[in-house]
Amino acid sequence: MQSISPETIFRGNYAWEKSLPHITKLTKSPLILGRGINTNNLRNKIFIDLKNQNLKVNSSNLQFDCCYEDISRVKDIILRNNHDSVIAAGGGKVLDSGKYIADCLNIPCISVPLSASTCAGWTALSNIYTKEGQFIKDVALRSCPKILVYDHKFIQTAPSRTLASGIADALAKWYESSITSSTIEDGLVQQAIQISRVLRDQLLIDGEKAFKGEFENNPSWRNTIEACGLTAGLVGGIGGEKCRTAAAHAIHNAITQIITPNKFLHGEIVGVGLLLQLKLEEMKNNNKLADQSIRQLLVLMKELNLPTTIGQLGINVFENDNLEKIAEFTCRDTSEIYFLPFEIHKRDIVEVIANFEQHKIKT
Ligand SMILES: [Zn+2]
Repeated sequence: MQSISPETIFRGNYAWEKSLPHITKLTKSPLILGRGINTNNLRNKIFIDLKNQNLKVNSSNLQFDCCYEDISRVKDIILRNNHDSVIAAGGGKVLDSGKYIADCLNIPCISVPLSASTCAGWTALSNIYTKEGQFIKDVALRSCPKILVYDHKFIQTAPSRTLASGIADALAKWYESSITSSTIEDGLVQQAIQISRVLRDQLLIDGEKAFKGEFENNPSWRNTIEACGLTAGLVGGIGGEKCRTAAAHAIHNAITQIITPNKFLHGEIVGVGLLLQLKLEEMKNNNKLADQSIRQLLVLMKELNLPTTIGQLGINVFENDNLEKIAEFTCRDTSEIYFLPFEIHKRDIVEVIANFEQHKIKT
């Protein structure tokens, strides 16, 4: 079974207002799930709008991350109050928690992304972390959200850093899916890979203009946020689990194991993982284009103020066995790193990261 997309999608300015009649048909007692205080105003608006539709509404915020502690606490609230849906309004962690909880309780999830930082509003997948933000595993869900509301007015309120993060995460789709799945003889997977290439091209063309430009009357901004929040999700939906993540996400997952005082966004870490994946391809798979891709990506990433080294993520790999820990987790038995079409050992990861970080410190 494959869930390709949300059942209904509302997109554009005032998509939220347009979705209200549809939402009131689906649910009588939703729980609004959120997290950060920066998005409190938007969630208050959502709360009031739903109350005005005579729905019995309640809200709850994640305390930590998309972690089992928060998930079981929110599940209890839903069961105690007989809520019949979850409205997940926030970034990737909130969307992933909302989808996971709705899936467990067999109630619909309505996703309302409040930034363009991920495609989590679309997909039938949740990433589970510890309370401290260390990646544990991803869980395939039975279906994509019932309704996705991608309101451009909401997305406009998000810090530009979230857009940069979304761009890095969406760029990774092409580099990861094309190397892991290009030999799979499944038409849909091949088509998904090609969509991810067009998606990458669009981000290379429009990403910087979107990041630096206005919101209104800026087709680059609209195209970019929809590329990050919608098309990237579609690639996952059509390609399914065969259209896989690879080293960029495996390295992301490993980097999250090191707890740092400053938290970085998912896509910010994936972007660094992507550069390291390309280095691996150059070193181990004789990919002659990898260096050119790295240089092309570095230009864009600098313009988007994205970190480009693990050092810039606040981790010195040469201290506290950090390099060893990252390589160990990257090469754990269940790692996505093994979807790469060439052999990978822990020493390769150590070598590529050490070279990369050393070179960066010098330059
Ligand atoms: Zn991702």
